[in-house]
Amino acid sequence: MTSHPHMLAPLDLGFTTLKNRVLMGSMHTNLEETGDWNRVAEFYATRARGGVGLMVTGGMAPNREGGVFPGAAGLFTEQDIANHKLVTDRVHDAGGKIAMQILHAGRYAYSPDCVAPSPVKSPISPFPPKELDEEGIEKQIADIATAAARAKEAGYDGVEVMGSEGYFLNQFIVTHTNKREDRWGGSYENRIRLPLDVVRRVREAVGPDFIVIYRLSMIDLVPNGSSFDEVVQLAQAIEKAGATIINTGIGWHEARIPTIATSVPRAAFAWVTKKLMGKVGIPVITSNRINTPEVAEEVLSTGCADMVSLARPFLADPDFVSKAAAGKAAEIAPCIACNQACLDHTFSGKVSSCLVNPQACYETEIVLSRAETPKSVAVVGAGPAGLSTAIAAAERGHSVTVFDKDTQIGGQLNLAKQVPGKEEFHGLVDWFAAMVAAQGVALRLGEEANAESLQAFDEVIIATGVTPRDPGIPGQDHAKVLGYIDVLKHGAEVGDRVAVIGAGGIGFDVSEFLVTGESPTESLPDWLREWGVTDPEEHRSGLAPEGPQPDAAVRKVTLLQRKPERPGKRLGKTTGWIHRAALKMKGVEMKAGVNYERIDDEGLHISYGEARERPEIIACDTVVLCAGQLSNRTLADELEARGVACHVIGGADVAAELDAKRAIDQGTRLAATL
Ligand code: NAP
Ligand code: SF4
Repeated sequence: MTSHPHMLAPLDLGFTTLKNRVLMGSMHTNLEETGDWNRVAEFYATRARGGVGLMVTGGMAPNREGGVFPGAAGLFTEQDIANHKLVTDRVHDAGGKIAMQILHAGRYAYSPDCVAPSPVKSPISPFPPKELDEEGIEKQIADIATAAARAKEAGYDGVEVMGSEGYFLNQFIVTHTNKREDRWGGSYENRIRLPLDVVRRVREAVGPDFIVIYRLSMIDLVPNGSSFDEVVQLAQAIEKAGATIINTGIGWHEARIPTIATSVPRAAFAWVTKKLMGKVGIPVITSNRINTPEVAEEVLSTGCADMVSLARPFLADPDFVSKAAAGKAAEIAPCIACNQACLDHTFSGKVSSCLVNPQACYETEIVLSRAETPKSVAVVGAGPAGLSTAIAAAERGHSVTVFDKDTQIGGQLNLAKQVPGKEEFHGLVDWFAAMVAAQGVALRLGEEANAESLQAFDEVIIATGVTPRDPGIPGQDHAKVLGYIDVLKHGAEVGDRVAVIGAGGIGFDVSEFLVTGESPTESLPDWLREWGVTDPEEHRSGLAPEGPQPDAAVRKVTLLQRKPERPGKRLGKTTGWIHRAALKMKGVEMKAGVNYERIDDEGLHISYGEARERPEIIACDTVVLCAGQLSNRTLADELEARGVACHVIGGADVAAELDAKRAIDQGTRLAATL
C-alpha cells in the first residue's frame, strides 16, 4: 500500500489512461524562444522520466496577435510542427504524456497589435487593445482550432485551452472587460459564446480521442468577475462542448491578491475547486500552492478535485512523483514559491530556472555525471552555497565533508524561515538535511575549519557567507540598537516602536517579522480575511465587500533607506508588490532619501537629501540595522596567503545582491566541474 494512494491512482479518460493524478501545470519558461529544441525536449523528457501523469507545455500562441509578447512561440509553420515533434517524441520515449497549452493573451499581450472584446486597457500592460469585429472574432476562434489541429499533428496527447487568469477567453466572459452589445457581449450566454465556440471548434479539429483541457477561472479576484453560479454554468457548458478535463484558474494576473507566492497558504484555493465537484461529469483539476505529496494527497483524499496541478514544484524537482512513489518524499526538493528564478526570470525575458534546482531548464548544460576520479572535498560553510556544492559533489561520487562553526546547517536560510510568510524555508533546510544524509555527506558542525584541518583534502570550497555591514551611524552602540541576526536568530527583545535601517530584502523581512503576530500563512481563514478573499458563491469574483481586513500590527515600524527611490523597488519582480502591500496594510511607514544623523535616547535622528534638511526624530525604543552585508573572506584570505588553492563561492565570493538563487546556482555549477 503506497502512502499516497489517491495521488498515485490512475485516471481513466476512456480513450486513454493517465498513470496518476498529477499534472505538471503550464509554465512559460522562455525555453521555446531560445530556438534550442533539443533543450526544450530534454526539459520535458526529464520530467516525463520522473513519472508525472500528464504535462502541459508553456502557453503557445495561436496567432501573432495572441502572443504574450512579439515573437512568442507558437505553431505557425511546418518547421514549428517539426520542432514540437522533437519534444513529443522524446516525452513519449520516456513514457510520458504531454498536452500543449494554447494561450491567446488578448489585452495582456505586450504588443500594440493586441486584440480584445472591447478596447479596455489592462492595468498591467501599456497597450490599449483593438476591439475585434465579427470577422476578427471568427479569425481568433479559427486560429485556436487550427493550433489544436497542429498540436495533434505534432504528436501531442492533448491541448489545454487557456480560459482563465484574465487572458483572451476570460476577457469575453466578464463585464469587467467585455462591454460589447452584439451577440458576443451583454448577457452571460452571449459572453460565454466565444469560449464555448472555441472548445467546440477545437474538438471538431482534433477528433474524439484527444485530451482537451479547459482552464476555467473559478474565482476571478477582480471587480465584476463571475459569480459562482456562472462558473458552474460555464463548466457544464464546456463539458457539453467537448472538453475532457476542467482545470482550475485562480485570479486574473491583474488581481491585487497573491495567488501563488510563498506567503499564500498551501493549497489555499482547493476549496474553490471543491465547490465544482459533482456539478460536472468530467474530471476536475485543482491548482495553486500544492507543493508536497502530502498536500496533494490531502487535497485529493478530501474530495477537492480528481487531479492536482503542480507547476513550479516540477522545476524544483522533476522526480516529484517517482520519489513520492518510492517512499522518498523527504528527498523531493521543495518549491518554496519564491518566484525568484522562475516567474521573475520569465517576466524579465530570461530563461526560467529554479532557486533550489539550477538544473531546471539547464538540463543539457549542468550535468552531474559520475566523476572519473573521486576526490576528497572539503566545504566550509553549511549555508545554501556550501550545501548545494556538497550534495551535488557527493552525487557525483566525491567524498565530501562540510564544516560549519554553527551547530546547525542552513546558514541564512535559518533567518528567512523565521519570517511570517516564509515558512517554506523550513522545508528547504529540512530537504538539505535529508540530502546530506542520503548522499553520505560528512558534517562537522560546531567546528571552525582552518588551514590545518583543510590540508588533507583534494579540493577546498569556501562558502563562509557574509557578515552584516557596519553602517557607522553615530550612537549605534546605544543599547536600543540591534542587528537583524539578534532579532531573527537570537530572539532579542524588541520594543513597541522600531526604526529599521535599510529597506533591502532583509529590512523588509525584519519589518514583516516585527509587525506580525500569528503568521496568516499558517491559517487559511486568517489569510483569506487578511487579503479580502471570500466565497465566490456569496460575492461575485470572491472579493469580500469589506476589502482586506488584516490584523493590527503588533509594533509601530518605520522602514528607512538612503536612496531617494521607492522602498522595495528592487525586490522580486513578481513578489515585491506583495511585500510592499503587506507592510502597508500593517501601517509600516516608509521613508526614502534619508540621512542617518545619530541614535540617542530620543530615537533615530534623520534628515533628508544632500542638503541634510528637514531634521526629524523617529521616536523609537529599538533600532534594527539591516544595512546590507559584506563577504566573509577571512578564511579564504588566510588560505590564499598560505598558497592553499580554494574555490570561493556564494556570499563569501560576492556579497552584493546575494541571494540563495545565486548561491545554489554557483555551488551546483562548481560541483559539476570538480
Ligand atoms: P540589500 O538588499 O542590498 O539591502 C541593503 C540595504 O541597506 C539597502 O536598503 C541599502 O539602502 C542599505 N544600506 C547599504 N549600505 C548602507 C549603509 N552604509 N548605511 C545604511 N544603510 C545602508 O541587502 P539585504 O537586505 O541585506 O539583503 C541581502 C540579500 O538577501 C539581498 O540581496 C536580497 O536579495 C536577499 N534577500 C532577499 C529577500 C527576498 O525577499 N527576495 C529577502 C531577504 C534577503 P540605502 O543604501 O539606500 O540606504
Ligand atoms: Fe519554486 Fe522558487 Fe524554484 Fe520558482 S524559483 S520553482 S518559486 S523554488
